[in-house]
Amino acid sequence: MHNFRRRCIMRILIFLVLIICCWPSCPVLAEESSYDTVVFCCSEPIPELKAIFTEDLGRVVVVRNMGNVIGVAGDKPDHIEIGSVEYAIEHGAKRIIVLGHKWCGVIKSVMDNPTGGGHQQAIYAVISKSITKARKESSDLEVIWQKSIEYNIKNTVTELRENRFILHELVEAGKLEVTDAVYNPETGKVEPCAE
Ligand SMILES: [Zn+2]
Repeated sequence: MHNFRRRCIMRILIFLVLIICCWPSCPVLAEESSYDTVVFCCSEPIPELKAIFTEDLGRVVVVRNMGNVIGVAGDKPDHIEIGSVEYAIEHGAKRIIVLGHKWCGVIKSVMDNPTGGGHQQAIYAVISKSITKARKESSDLEVIWQKSIEYNIKNTVTELRENRFILHELVEAGKLEVTDAVYNPETGKVEPCAE
């Protein structure tokens, strides 16, 4: 009888410990649902995001790749990149900022040589579309470079907005905002892309 009572008390104690450990006030669980913004930006060494954004960086999720592109091979989007964004959205983020930057070296590399080696080809193929569009509007290399940067940012915004799984539905329902922005290293400012 004594043993039975001791086992019951032990089980109750274990149950109470589990409740206390898993309660939502646990810092780890609280952090998981506290995202606010996803910044999708270029991997090049631009100044720390801390210097650009005044928001609480504990709530900003950063997804980076060379040239801030969403790769599309044939009909299939890059599931890893979009999956990373979707994860942040499902854990609380309400807006995505696609952040490119002036004088992006990746865009310039594609302008100089549109054929990237190995897996770089996936990045080059996406960026080439923006460069082709910019070349139709100007013959000035510097103008083409800066226009290509903005067209490439807008292309990524479109890919994210129209992503047919989770993001598109949220955008349509007005629950998710996807905006473009370009960082100017000369002024240190982030501004919307030109219309
Ligand atoms: Zn860049």
